[in-house]
Amino acid sequence: MSGGPEIERLIQLLAKLPGLGPRSARRAALVLLTKKDTLLAPLARALSDAFEAVKACSTCGNLDTVDPCAICRDPRRDAAVLCVVEDVADLWALERAGAHGGRYHVLGGTLSALDGVKPEDLNIDALLTRARSGEIKEVILAMNATVEGQTTAHYVTDRLSGSGIAVTRLAHGVPVGGELDYLDDGTLTAAIKSRRPF
Ligand SMILES: [Zn+2]
Repeated sequence: MSGGPEIERLIQLLAKLPGLGPRSARRAALVLLTKKDTLLAPLARALSDAFEAVKACSTCGNLDTVDPCAICRDPRRDAAVLCVVEDVADLWALERAGAHGGRYHVLGGTLSALDGVKPEDLNIDALLTRARSGEIKEVILAMNATVEGQTTAHYVTDRLSGSGIAVTRLAHGVPVGGELDYLDDGTLTAAIKSRRPF
């Protein structure tokens, strides 16, 4: 590698981003360095601003510049319905879809025996504390349809049993506009299992 340790360090850091391997990190670094004024400088400022301003909401775990976050503060959202997600990316996906009018709770991952992730490593105690506050009537478990996601959903359901709170989960089914022929086996099996009367 020629060009100095600053370039090498930039490439190494870019390569840690999801979706960027060493090759695309080199290309990204080159674009940044050839567009110093229009891209590199604004990006550096945006990174610095985000570092200073963005923090995890102490109530739900969402990322925002205010704490509690804008969703937790919004009086138009239904405080009685809490949607539990694995990470902030899932929260963003549900918000993009406008699919949930209540509030959220971000667990920060899933239980995993393989990776040594235990209940105390996740934001579960805070969820139970929120659930016991008396404001919440329903908890929607919006976990991914993976083994870890479903294990986590079962664990949270167990911990909430006897609390009087309705625990629901996402239906796993045929996507809107989806053709059966294109579905993977897991989705198709889940769709059959969660069939309802017509
Ligand atoms: Zn929040």
